[in-house]
Amino acid sequence: MNDDPVSHGLATVRERLAAAEAAAGRAAGSVQLLAVSKTKPIEAVRAAYALGQLDFGENQLQDALPKLDAMAGTPTRWYFIGPVQGNKTRPVAERFDWVLSVDRERVARRLDAQRPVERGPLNVCLQFNVSGEETKSGVTLEDLEPLCAVVNDLPNLALRGLMAIPAPSSDLQVQRASFAAVREAYESLGTAGYALDTLSMGMTDDLEAAVAEGSTMVRIGTAIFGARARPAGAT
Ligand SMILES: *Cc1c(COP(=O)(O)O)cnc(C)c1O
Repeated sequence: MNDDPVSHGLATVRERLAAAEAAAGRAAGSVQLLAVSKTKPIEAVRAAYALGQLDFGENQLQDALPKLDAMAGTPTRWYFIGPVQGNKTRPVAERFDWVLSVDRERVARRLDAQRPVERGPLNVCLQFNVSGEETKSGVTLEDLEPLCAVVNDLPNLALRGLMAIPAPSSDLQVQRASFAAVREAYESLGTAGYALDTLSMGMTDDLEAAVAEGSTMVRIGTAIFGARARPAGAT
């Protein structure tokens, strides 16, 4: 179709996503595609935007802010997906549309306090540490419901759901088991009365497993934009 690498990558990912939706018996277009542009230049964002991609994920402020500036005035939506440092919440609260990586009450309260009211509530997913690794970011299962309760009561945050990054595995069944555990946590929060609509799971190497287990938002970097030159934080 087109020799441009981003155009090729995006087309390939759109095909993978459509095939995964069909294989899971889910409606076409029911899984949202978040393009993870972290570490990539603004030209890559512009190329994806020209092909209709509106949702972009970033995990480091200094890398992200010039891109948000460059795309100001477009209908793009920006998702913060990296660890949120307690002393750097303000630009996240002011500039982003979503934060997928909230895992502490203190950060949630600061984001709420610093969100400009005229921008409307900041959309938030709690990052669930499904693999239970002590060093990784994310809320444990036992702390999940209490943090939901806190965030749900903050007026300038809109609690939308969960995000998870399971420990990598090349085994489809292992991938599915991790994602199933995230879905179960998500469903039990729904049963507990939280009105959630976003289950963000699935990256380049486990998109199919995540869609099979009910993901509503995959986050794809490498398969769209190519390999990253430097590891950027979260993964
Ligand atoms: C980098 C990153 C991704 C994208 O990973 P790929 O394997 O390149 O698709 C998704 N989610 C988060 C939180 C990330 O940090």
